[in-house]
Amino acid sequence: MIGHRFEFHRPRDVGEATALLANFGADVSVLGGGTMLIPSMSANLVLPAHVMSLASLSLDDVTLEDAHLRIGSMATYATLLASPLVARHAPLLATMAAQVTGGASIVNQGTLGGSVSYANPSSDAPGCLCALEARFELRSVQGVRYVPAREFFVDAFRTAKRDDEFLASILLPLDSTLVACRYQKYKASSSSWPIVTVACSMHRGEQESVRIAVGAAGRRPAYRHFIIDESASCQIDDFVERAAAGVLDLVGEGWSDELADAEYRRAVVPGVVKRHLRDLLMERQT
Ligand SMILES: Cc1cc2nc3c(=O)[nH]c(=O)nc-3n(C[C@H](O)[C@H](O)[C@H](O)COP(=O)(O)OP(=O)(O)OC[C@H]3O[C@@H](n4cnc5c(N)ncnc54)[C@H](O)[C@@H]3O)c2cc1C
Repeated sequence: MIGHRFEFHRPRDVGEATALLANFGADVSVLGGGTMLIPSMSANLVLPAHVMSLASLSLDDVTLEDAHLRIGSMATYATLLASPLVARHAPLLATMAAQVTGGASIVNQGTLGGSVSYANPSSDAPGCLCALEARFELRSVQGVRYVPAREFFVDAFRTAKRDDEFLASILLPLDSTLVACRYQKYKASSSSWPIVTVACSMHRGEQESVRIAVGAAGRRPAYRHFIIDESASCQIDDFVERAAAGVLDLVGEGWSDELADAEYRRAVVPGVVKRHLRDLLMERQT
């Protein structure tokens, strides 16, 4: 039960929502699906004076635009899984959504925007959206600004979003160069938060490249984009070793919680990066 008093707002349009945020800023908690916010309020970990629901802003659709897929911040994992547009243009995201735990309540209620805004290092979406080179559309009374995923996640539970902004949508660039992609999380048990997550994809355009994002290992996702040149093609083992070292560099000091400490998570990273990269590179040769 939530034991403190707060004012509940359900703005009918973006203008009303941004005005509320301009007036009350840090005293407002934005409500997505509420799967993290409501338990945090019940446990008195978060005591907002105002709660603002985004439920009336029509932000739960997936739409195809000229250069990107637009996913409203209120789109749930169930929406992502049911969307033919996501299946076709962002299979990595669909694979990620299929691995979300917590049963029907989390899949049907948890939103992509909530996961992004919460910025829990162990969440699935942040790393995956870095690998997809997503951009986040942030709204405030000053207008709109777009922040690339790799700049958005600043630290554990901290993002580049200001207190007077909310996340309106997630933009995924349409990418005709995608050849293959994978998402996997490594965890202690089937229902636990992951120790390490890996999102990776292979691309064939003017140049061949791989993208890899590791989540849960560090305070923010570690993302790198590697060009596969002639030497990488011939010496896969060398390339994979260098790539794994490069990703580990970005993991930095690592992330500790009750499931695993930073040293353990860092020790897991090179092995899983090498495994996924090697598999992608082998797939390319078949
Ligand atoms: C049992 C259980 C299992 C779970 N399993 C997984 C899992 O497998 N993988 C995973 O990644 N996560 C998991 N989660 C965590 C969480 O439920 C999801 O990440 C979910 O997507 C969070 O979204 P939400 O809409 O419920 O967020 P909310 O609880 O509504 O909000 C979370 C935070 O983000 C802010 N916020 C929400 N939307 C916006 C917005 N549009 N703009 C600005 N701020 C916003 C809120 O103010 C709050 O601080 C699990 C949680 C539970 C309880």
